[in-house]
Amino acid sequence: MADLVVARPEGLYCPPGGFFIDPWRPVERAVITHAHGDHARAGHGRYLSSRASTPVMRVRLPGISLTTLEYGETLRHEGVTLSLHPAGHVLGSSQLRIEHRGEVWVASGDYFAAGERDDPREHNRTCTPLEPVACHCFITESTFGLPIYRWAPQDDVFAAIDAWWRDNAGNGRASVLYAYALGKAQRVMAGVDRSIGPIVVHGAVDTVTRAYREAGIALPDTALVTELDDPSLVRRCLVIAPPSAQRSPWLRRFGDMSDAFASGWMQVRGARRRRSVDRGFVLSDHADWPGLLRVIAATGASRVIVTHGFESAMVRWLGEHGYDAGAFATEYGDLDDDAPVAT
Ligand SMILES: [Zn+2]
Repeated sequence: MADLVVARPEGLYCPPGGFFIDPWRPVERAVITHAHGDHARAGHGRYLSSRASTPVMRVRLPGISLTTLEYGETLRHEGVTLSLHPAGHVLGSSQLRIEHRGEVWVASGDYFAAGERDDPREHNRTCTPLEPVACHCFITESTFGLPIYRWAPQDDVFAAIDAWWRDNAGNGRASVLYAYALGKAQRVMAGVDRSIGPIVVHGAVDTVTRAYREAGIALPDTALVTELDDPSLVRRCLVIAPPSAQRSPWLRRFGDMSDAFASGWMQVRGARRRRSVDRGFVLSDHADWPGLLRVIAATGASRVIVTHGFESAMVRWLGEHGYDAGAFATEYGDLDDDAPVAT
């Protein structure tokens, strides 16, 4: 049986179906797992993605020729059956299932699963949780594919953010939290205690947040800083801004403030200091090590192909545990909204 997905210079390619998956060079047909910049690039002829991703795809790639599928809906194309299944990473994120002549492969894109057991309390509350999909071969990401990465209960992380915010508000200081504009920012605003003060968002966060609301995701009220008429409110607010806003003139209007960064990379020793922020909160939209292993096991796949992250460590571990394991070199990660924190 020939492989259903191979690596080509343009991206991951399905030979029997004649389409690419999250290609990094322009192609005619692209299936897009989610709207982060390293997976959803401009310049392709036609795009296919999940219906749930439509508002964020339109924000990120205006004017594209986009066909959508509901999760679980099947599409027949050139003798291949395609379907998209929730990945739990950001709004509309999908795993792609490909079936051809009885062989089933699943390409995960980026996905989120925390811990050894599936606990609904740990799901990303701003999108549909991941559903493992049975397959013969699973193509998995490995962004946090090392045993050191184990996420704490998310309510503990949100409680720590609340305590920092409450303390700052009590001292008349704004709390500026850097979080990627697509996914992380919405997860933060959905998780914090909104009674502490107003939530102010940077324009880049506001655009994506509107797309989330359009998709029916319940999020607390947020304001642009220009909409805060009472200056005393600025000293009690939580400001959610993309990392690119750090050291920008836009921040000056908040006066005295404390700043923090929310990312899985905050677990790495020295990351907070390299980012030059007061606090680091370990909050990721990618699977931790036990989550990766749990999802891989749940697919029942005997063959696993590892992409972007700690490929060699993960391939070695999988090989030692009875899997037929290999890797694809990809160009994911460099434009990822959860890319490694630059040193
Ligand atoms: Zn992503």
